[in-house]
This record gives sequence, structure tokens and C-alpha cells, in this order.
Amino acid sequence: MESRVASRIASDVDFDRDGRQASNLRAPLSRNNAGWGTVEIPIIVVKNAPGPTVLLTGGIHGDEYEGQIAISRLARELEPAAVRGRVIMIPTVNMPAALNDTRLSPIDDRDLNRCFPGNPRGTFSEMLAHFLDAIVLPLADVSVDVHTAGHSFDAALSTNMHYLPDEALRARTMAAAAAFGAPFNVVFSSVDEGATFTSSVERRGILSIGTEVGGWGRVSVEGVRIAERGVRNILKHFGILDGSPETGQRDGRAGTRHMMVRDQSYFTFAPANALFEPCHRAGDEVEEGALAGFLHFIEDVDHPPIEVRYRRSGVLWMAAGPGRVRRGDAIAVVMTDYAEP
Ligand SMILES: [Zn+2]
Repeated sequence: MESRVASRIASDVDFDRDGRQASNLRAPLSRNNAGWGTVEIPIIVVKNAPGPTVLLTGGIHGDEYEGQIAISRLARELEPAAVRGRVIMIPTVNMPAALNDTRLSPIDDRDLNRCFPGNPRGTFSEMLAHFLDAIVLPLADVSVDVHTAGHSFDAALSTNMHYLPDEALRARTMAAAAAFGAPFNVVFSSVDEGATFTSSVERRGILSIGTEVGGWGRVSVEGVRIAERGVRNILKHFGILDGSPETGQRDGRAGTRHMMVRDQSYFTFAPANALFEPCHRAGDEVEEGALAGFLHFIEDVDHPPIEVRYRRSGVLWMAAGPGRVRRGDAIAVVMTDYAEP
């Protein structure tokens, strides 16, 4: 028998009820002047007729805005009568970080996306991670978690997924990503897996799609457009909404270009603390050995800049965001066309 630890986060949503429910999760946060204080996190559930459940999450990182905008808008507009199945929407999962405009939570200084599967008795972020993993995920057939590259990078507008050993699930995931309709879909493994939401989703055998639809800490006009179209496309792909996904691209291509990042040799890391001047923008074609940029030492004008070079040829998926970087920070990630490894 599975022993299930109850969440400390309260919810009055009845996930089995037909119709539209808009409510707030209530996450306890004791403060000096509010021992019974709570953080409210909007959740919207639209359910009607038999069908699959799609979970849409945004704002797991507080400085990533496109998903928060796109999912909030869908949550306002989605009519139960048009739905066959269930759509669970949490537009801003990490409300404290979103209100603080930061990637990490200002409450416990943790990256929520490194706290999974979480702990109901842990820190605020761990409690939030546990709620998503233990209470929400078991309801879902499909998870679309909308991210951008925050302040770390600017990203070529893309969905992403891990290279899944299960061939059938990998094919279904690539088909769903193509239905989302971003310019690129990137199959990859990042430098810090296992504690991410995506890892939790995959451990439960649920189809998982992530996105990188912007970055540099601002709102991308095109990123919002792709995110809004993408979440509706996913609902169409799984038969929850009528119609076919719209996947035409601005450059005239009919659909999504499948890409991959095979290993860490496609990452370029900064060799020193310095001011980084990049040479390319996300989406540019780059060559192995070509200049990725210069590291400038502004305290010493006579110190020649360090030239940083790409280690692989391909398309620049992630382009450095901040001016100042630290030694060991990833400053460029290159992707190549997808091929079975
Ligand atoms: Zn993120």
C-alpha cells in the first residue's frame, strides 16, 4: 500500500467536477506578523465530457513571463462546452518568485525546478514541488511546462524534451512537440537533471513537453504568440479542442525543425569571471572553432579580452543573457538537426 503524505497546500478544486472552476491554491507561509499567512496561487480547471487531461504550467521560474501570459489568457477564454477532457492550468506556479521577478524563490532562495519530487515538510519550494508531483501530476496524461530562458539566456523559440529510451513515448512526444508548433523542438539532456519538474513528469510515465519561448528577462512578442498558439495547438492535437494545430512558421516553413543537443560538448562555458560580449544571436548558424564572443576585463583595460570559441557547429539554441558572467557559466548552447543517436 502506498503511504501518501498529505500536502500542506490547501485546494478546494474538485478535479472530477464538470465545468469551469477558478480558485486559488493556498500555500502556508508563516511570517513575523502573519503566523497564519498564506500565498495564493491561481488554478483553473476546465472539464467536460470524457477525454485526456492536459496540465499547463507557467512561472515555475518567476522571471519567465510568456507562459504566465499565455496560460492566463487561455484560462480566461476556455469555454467548458468546447472541451472534451480536462485542462488543468496553473499559470504562475512559483508566485513568490514571480512577484519578486526572479528565477529563485525569495522565500528559501531555491530554484523550484531543482526541488522535485519535493517534500511536504520541506522548505516553501519543496512543499510546492511535492504538491505538483504528488497531487497534480497523477491526474495528468500530458504536461506542458512553459519556460523561457529567464535572465540566463535568450533562446531560439522552441519546445524541448529529453531523449526518452521508450521509443513509442519518444515518438508520441515528438509528435506533440511538432503540434505545439514552435520553430524548433530540441531533444536534449541539460547539465542538472533529476530534480527538475520534467524529470518528475517522466518518472510518472506522463508525456512531457517543455518550452523555451524567450529570455533575457523581458517579454518576447513572438514568444507570447508561439506560446498562445502552442497551448491551443496541444489541446487540438489531443482532441480536447476541435480543429487542427496551426504550425506554419514566419520563414515559410510548414512546421517545427527537430533538433538535438547530444552532450555537454555542445555547451560553451565561460573560462573566467568577466563581461561577456557575444558574437551571435539565438537562432544564428555557428561554426565549430568560430568566435562565440569576448570576455572583457573592465578593471584592466590593457588586459586583452579572452576569445571564447564554439566547440561544435550548428544553430545557436541559447545565447548568453547577462553581461557579467562567472567562470563555469554556460554562455552558449549549440543544437544540430535531430538524428537517432
Ligand atoms: Zn525556466
